Amino acid sequence: MSKKKQFVEKVTPMEENFAQWYTDVVKQAGLVDYGQVRGTMIIKPYGYAIWENIRDELDRKFKETGHSNVAFPLFIPESLLQKEKDHVEGFAPEVAWVTHGGDEELAERIAVRPTSEVLFCEYYSKNIHSYRDLPMLYNQWANVVRWEKTTRPFLRSSEFHWQEGHTAHATAEDASEETERMLGIYADLTEKYLAIPVIRGRKTEKEKFAGAKYTLTIESLMHDGRALQSATSHHFGPEFAKAFDITYLDENGDTQFVHQTSWGLSTRIMGALIMVHGDNRGLVVPPRIAPTQAIILPIAQHKEGVLDKAYDLRDQLKDIVRIDIDASDKTPGWKFNESEMKGIPVRIEMGPRDIEKDQVVLVRRDTGEKEFVPLNELKERLPNVLEEVQQNLYNKALAHRDSKTSTATTMEEFNQTLDENPGFIKAMWCGDVACEEKIKEETQATSRCIPFEQEKVADTCVCCGKEAKEMIYWARAY
Ligand SMILES: [Zn+2]
Repeated sequence: MSKKKQFVEKVTPMEENFAQWYTDVVKQAGLVDYGQVRGTMIIKPYGYAIWENIRDELDRKFKETGHSNVAFPLFIPESLLQKEKDHVEGFAPEVAWVTHGGDEELAERIAVRPTSEVLFCEYYSKNIHSYRDLPMLYNQWANVVRWEKTTRPFLRSSEFHWQEGHTAHATAEDASEETERMLGIYADLTEKYLAIPVIRGRKTEKEKFAGAKYTLTIESLMHDGRALQSATSHHFGPEFAKAFDITYLDENGDTQFVHQTSWGLSTRIMGALIMVHGDNRGLVVPPRIAPTQAIILPIAQHKEGVLDKAYDLRDQLKDIVRIDIDASDKTPGWKFNESEMKGIPVRIEMGPRDIEKDQVVLVRRDTGEKEFVPLNELKERLPNVLEEVQQNLYNKALAHRDSKTSTATTMEEFNQTLDENPGFIKAMWCGDVACEEKIKEETQATSRCIPFEQEKVADTCVCCGKEAKEMIYWARAY
């Protein structure tokens, strides 16, 4: 048995066991290791490099739209967390508590932040006085802790990394604009950089963020037909401001409550990246966020001149693309497989015969297509190939989502679709939470969102048959 075969066999085929395939890819591609406390993860260099590219792009967009980064404490006093009733109820089951400092029991328990709304509110109540202080547009890159019962790397971990934006505005309209603007930024990043198509919409009352007036979301569909909430943006109205007494004097000297938003995208998106683009050979990383966009694999590198040429090539290309070279003594077969497992978009093969002909071989990770490119055309061709890979990944994901999006007008149809072609189901809803709960109980599918782009697929609610108000995207979800 060749080494090539052995390497590939470490990944369980996704058709056989999707969950195991996911775990195998996460491990084999070198993204994470498990932490010592159950549900925690160590994000390894390659995983972190991908996250950094996502983070940097988002951070650039946040700053472009006037936001400043800040760093708030990890700890929240219990009394502070309890100030907004709906909010604390939503998070209470998942809070990790600090009860001791050294040997001494604390007078008041301290929560490890599950999210930081209340800390920002407390700060705003002290630091916002006048309409001149508004809007206050803050963001922090942070880790948070939610004590989850079942955990999986990236998808659901007890501790995860994210950014949380927290803003305060003079009017409800300003806060609405902000809520939509940030959802737009998430959608843009997810579609253009991660090559993942998203459905934009609003969460139902049942599914909205604890304490929010409303929650906007982007939803994406994984390879196995399950949905994943990819980022959310919340409008709080003045409710937190009332609980925390965050007021300002308007231009007429009248006291007003501020209107707030918060919005977040987490390392969960890494799970989407894996489950949308990956295949049985491993990870597939879209070029725009790939830490290494192309890797040079010298063939017969022990032959004179091969390595020199390969390093020359790297130096010529390093200002154009993020490029690496594997000059280790592993076999070419091993190197091919490793670059595929890591999902590097393009590999460049170069051996003595290619050098003779002044050419290289480009191999695309997404399609496996090989292309001979003359050396003097490579600087032009390589960026184009990367762009083609980027586009193809998006188109493939979109075609997959379309093929797994169905319409149901009766519960019979709903159930049949979930059995035969699981994915998004578009169905009408009367607006009653009882129907939403009944559907969840019977099918395990949840309302993913009320999409901004509405279609009237029927006149009546799929569940109760009463007059329908809105069309909803349903799916079983991560
Ligand atoms: Zn109904």
